[in-house]
Amino acid sequence: MPLRLPAVRGAPPRRGPRRRAFLVAAAALLAPALTRPLAARAIGSASLAQDESAVRLTLAVAEPVVFRLFTLDNPLRLVIDIEGAPWRAGAPPAGVGPVTRIRAALNRPGVTRVVLDLSEPVTVRRAALEPDGSALVVELAPAPRAVFLREERASDPLPRPPTPPERPLIVLDPGHGGRDPGAIGASGTQEKRVALAAALELRRILEASGRYRVAMTRTRDVFVPLAERVRFAQTRNAALFLSIHADALDDASVRGASVYTLAEHASDAIAERIARNENRADRFAGPSFTGVTPEVARILISLVRRETLNGSARMARHAVASLRREVTMLPNSHRFAGFVVLKAPDVPSVLIEMGFMSSRADEALLRRADHRRKLAAAMAEAVQRYAEEAVPVRAAG
Ligand code: ZN
Repeated sequence: MPLRLPAVRGAPPRRGPRRRAFLVAAAALLAPALTRPLAARAIGSASLAQDESAVRLTLAVAEPVVFRLFTLDNPLRLVIDIEGAPWRAGAPPAGVGPVTRIRAALNRPGVTRVVLDLSEPVTVRRAALEPDGSALVVELAPAPRAVFLREERASDPLPRPPTPPERPLIVLDPGHGGRDPGAIGASGTQEKRVALAAALELRRILEASGRYRVAMTRTRDVFVPLAERVRFAQTRNAALFLSIHADALDDASVRGASVYTLAEHASDAIAERIARNENRADRFAGPSFTGVTPEVARILISLVRRETLNGSARMARHAVASLRREVTMLPNSHRFAGFVVLKAPDVPSVLIEMGFMSSRADEALLRRADHRRKLAAAMAEAVQRYAEEAVPVRAAG
């Protein structure tokens, strides 16, 4: 156990902007240190060596530390305060040359003070961390007393900690909107409204997690052409694109949630019909809309990168697994079709049918906020599982 040193008498450490900067750096250092094993940041060994021109003190620190060094007179001492690195080096090395003795102890909470008692004044030729951060090296050489008394050094700025990866951007795409109501249920429920309500709920959950940024292709009842929704995600470098729907089928008995990913050829008749109806949403766009022609669609599909398709498939798998625990699912819940809105070649994209407006049971559920919350929570869980296994999650630049 290091002993607590009595405060070193003499000139108190100078305060000022430099000291503040030092403390700020120290605080930045200490925050991440709380999550590391204590032993990782400690003075593990100490050695003192002398050659013809200098005395060199080497303190092994394993990780970069913040230090401050100053001199005291009467008697002559050199003081090194090291933040957040307890002394674990055993007995300090014996003095050599102008260093008659070394003492080390906890000076105040979190600060190890190393004091070099000196027989003659010295100058600090070097006081720096080794480039790899493994040791603090202090080199001393004889110098006039006036030089000695002026010596004061602070550590170089710490190597910047790696910037935390930027939170991935999730783009939510509530289907339809504005003059395109989407499917309309038997009780008059409009798909565009439940899609928006569910997407807003999903955004709330995702943002509350603090793990994602969320952008939405629409947050109001406005029309947005399909290709624009795709571009929206692409230009923002989205990590994931989730299109949220509740379409209608001509068979009112079919109900349950389902998840769709892009494929040139639809996996089945239901997927084909949904895609055809979805893609027709652009008939509301009017003549100014530059649609995606079949040729362009084919080129786009051919450009779809394998990892994007893989990402979409993984997300679909997680969405099916999470939704299945909460709501009724359509058999073969993961289906494939040529949705325009899923055609971003570089953004993993999934379309979720929360249920079908053509089913009275689904329509009744989708009108309920608690049911939409359940759906949103399941979708958020799927995003989380996707992000956890994504290596790496694409972060926006
Ligand atoms: Zn729809």
